[in-house]
Amino acid sequence: MLLPQEIIRRKRDGCALSGDEIRAFIAGVVSGEISDAQIAALAMAVHLRGMDAEETAALTLAMRDSGRVLAWPGMPGPVVDKHSTGGVGDKVSLLLAPILAACGAYVPMISGRGLGHTGGTLDKLESIPGYDTRPAVERFQRILREVGCAIVGQTPDLAPADGRIYAVRDVTATVESVPLITASILAKKLAEGIEALVMDVKVGSGAFLPECARARELARTLVAVAAAAGLPCCALLTDMNRVLGRTAGNALEVAEAVRALRGEGTDPRLEEVTFALAGELLAMSGLARDVGEGRMRAQAALSSGAAAERFAKMVHALGGPADFVESFEAQLPRAPLVRAVPAPRSGFITAVNLRALGLAVVALGGGRTRVEDRIDHAVGITDPSPPGAEIRAGDPLCVLHARDEARFEAAAAMVVAACRIGDRPPPETPVIYERLSG
Ligand code: URA
Repeated sequence: MLLPQEIIRRKRDGCALSGDEIRAFIAGVVSGEISDAQIAALAMAVHLRGMDAEETAALTLAMRDSGRVLAWPGMPGPVVDKHSTGGVGDKVSLLLAPILAACGAYVPMISGRGLGHTGGTLDKLESIPGYDTRPAVERFQRILREVGCAIVGQTPDLAPADGRIYAVRDVTATVESVPLITASILAKKLAEGIEALVMDVKVGSGAFLPECARARELARTLVAVAAAAGLPCCALLTDMNRVLGRTAGNALEVAEAVRALRGEGTDPRLEEVTFALAGELLAMSGLARDVGEGRMRAQAALSSGAAAERFAKMVHALGGPADFVESFEAQLPRAPLVRAVPAPRSGFITAVNLRALGLAVVALGGGRTRVEDRIDHAVGITDPSPPGAEIRAGDPLCVLHARDEARFEAAAAMVVAACRIGDRPPPETPVIYERLSG
C-alpha cells in the first residue's frame, strides 16, 4: 500500500515519483480516499520541485484514465482538435472548428469557460439562443459524425481527476506549474480520443503565462508529453499583447466570427493564427501534403462559404436557430449603452496591458471572477486601438458595450489605465513567434 503522505514526502524532498506512485495517488483522488489537503500538498511539492518528462507523462495518462476515454470507430476522417491557453478576444475556435470540418476533419472540441481576465468559448456560444453546451455524449457523437464539428463543454466523466485537482490548485497558488498544466490540458484532450492536436500557447500581457520563456517551456513540455502518449502534436507561440480581432466579449465575439465566416473580412492577425493552426492540423492528420497546402485548403473553406455552412449546421444541431448565420444580428443580445472611451492625450499607443483590458470586460459583467458567477453575454469591447496606433486626445481608445452608466464608468477608467500612450510607436510584433514540434 502506497501511503499518500509518503508520496507527498518523496516529491517534497525532490525525488522523482514512480508510475505506480502517481497512479496510486490519482486513484485515491478519484475514489475520495485522498483529501483536498493532500492534493494541495502534492500540487505545491510539484510546483516547487517540478517533474521530469517521465513523471509528467505518467501523471497525464493516469489523469486521462481517471474517467471515460472517447473512441470514434468508423469515423470517415481524422479526429483532431486544438487547444489554446486562453486570452482576450480569442475567438479562433469559432472559426477553426468549422474550417477543419469543411476540410474533412472531425473536431470534437471540448472547451472551457472564461475565468479571470480570459474569455471562454462556451460562454461565447451560450450567447446564441438555445445553444446547448452540454449535450448527452450520444448526441454529441451523432452531431460530430453528421456535421464534422461540435463545440461543447466538459462532462464530469471526462478526466474527473483533473476537475478535483484543478479546483484545489485554483485556491492554493499552484496553477502556474508547467507539469501540472501539461497533465491537466493533455489528460482532457487525450480523453477526447483525438488523433492529432495543435496547441496555441499565448505569450504576452493577456496570456496566462505572460513571459516568453515560460510559455516556450510549457509548449515544449506539451509537445513532448503528447508524443510520449502517442498523440501527434505541435504548438505555436502566438501573441497576446493585443486583442485578437476587433472584439472582446461574448456575443460581440460571436458576431465577429460569423462576419468572418460570411466572408465580410476580419482582422488579419486573427486570420493568420486561424490559418496557421488549421494548416498544421490538416498536415498532421494527412488531409494536406504539408502545412502550406493545409493553409490553402483552410483559406478556401472560409472563402467558399463551406465553413459558414458547417458552423450553421453545428449551431442548429445543438439547439440554436436554423438561420443563425443569416440573422445573427437580430438573435444576439445587445447592450443598451454603446459609447467610446476617449484617449486622454495624443500620441502613439505604446503598450496595452491586456490582462487589465480583459478585467475591464469582467467589470462590465462579461466575465467571471468565480466559477459560479453569472455573466452578461451582451457586454464587451469593440475596436480596441492596438499598440502602434496613432491617436489624438479625444479619439476612441475603444468602444464599450455596457449595461449601465456605472459599469461603463468603471470599465472606462480601467481601459484608460490599461493603455500606455507615448511619443513614439513601439516596434512591430509578429502574431506568431515560434513553432514547436516533436
Ligand atoms: N488550463 C487547463 O485546462 N488546465 C490548467 O492547469 C491550466 C489551464
